[in-house]
Amino acid sequence: MQVVRGYRTELALNHTQITACTQHAGTARYAYNWGLRRSQEVYQQTGKRPSAMDLHRELNALKETDFPWMYAVSKCAPQEALRNLETGYTNALRRAKEKKAGQWHGPLGFPVPKTRKKGLGSFRLTGSIRVFSDAIQLPRLGRVRLKERGYLPPTGTGGMRVLSATVRERAGRWFVALQVEQEQPVPENTVPVVGVDLGVKALATLSDGTVIANPKPLKRRLKKVKRLHRAVTRKQKGSQNRKKAARKLGKQYRRVANQRANTLHQVTTRLAKTKAVIVIEDLHVAGMLRNHHLAQAIADVGFAEFRRQLTYKAAWYGSRVVVVSRWEPTSKRCSRCGWLNDALTLADRVFQCDSCCLTLDRDLNAALNLERLAASSADT
Ligand SMILES: [Zn+2]
Repeated sequence: MQVVRGYRTELALNHTQITACTQHAGTARYAYNWGLRRSQEVYQQTGKRPSAMDLHRELNALKETDFPWMYAVSKCAPQEALRNLETGYTNALRRAKEKKAGQWHGPLGFPVPKTRKKGLGSFRLTGSIRVFSDAIQLPRLGRVRLKERGYLPPTGTGGMRVLSATVRERAGRWFVALQVEQEQPVPENTVPVVGVDLGVKALATLSDGTVIANPKPLKRRLKKVKRLHRAVTRKQKGSQNRKKAARKLGKQYRRVANQRANTLHQVTTRLAKTKAVIVIEDLHVAGMLRNHHLAQAIADVGFAEFRRQLTYKAAWYGSRVVVVSRWEPTSKRCSRCGWLNDALTLADRVFQCDSCCLTLDRDLNAALNLERLAASSADT
């Protein structure tokens, strides 16, 4: 199967390369903000938004006179930034439409100017990109070393084609995210059906009895984040000490984010690889988050992300994801006889059936119900 997937890994830049990357990111940010301003002007005058192409043409015409410094970086940097702007508008307008129809309740997220205060940012490169076992060859930047050897698939293997490379700074470190198209062999999958109850207490409970626990260090780290946050607000605004404290907070926050992402990836990969059919509940995400009842790691990255990862990984590993309607009383129903325990609350950790006397962990009971529902529910 031909799939498009992403790889992200850290770069080991030398000083010249750090300068070049900072310059590229700066140009991308400048082009984005310029495009945003132009877009707003044109919209006010004509009632129509210019496309990324229109803006790019205009910017190119101005380059020689107004922005000669842009020649120092790859032409991709401003061009792709304008594309991002266009995507930003498209998404915001789609959400505006959905909000009118009552399908969207969050903020619309119209593009806003990018600021250096939030980090150096990123830029995307397209064109000839080659991957070696310990380095990557990028337009303009040349050969850049990778911190991790052998993670990225080298170009030329398995029909791999690099579509784009996005270089991004995060808390003082530089990363590259590759979007590649490659051949993914789908294995024959014969292992059984499993129901997955996403956690109230544990991260996930499977109907085969496996319990995937919440990562413990996460709680500890979150505590530290809170403390560092207070440290920042106590320092005088604009002072060097405040900047230092903010950098420290940024680093700690990054660690938390990495750990969340890692946990989620591990769980979804494990499920997709070892089960033929995975049954999950179609949770109402906003409601669950308000309740604070979903396990931390999933609540943080979001159930939608859990489902997204599970779905694409299932396609890679030859399994299926089945989503059960959110109105199905999976927690309250007895998984053996079907009796409905209407009195069950979230505080009850154990399910007790008054009809057949089944006594079971509530999450396991829910997982068993999900497994049973596999046949009567639709695929994602
Ligand atoms: Zn029962």
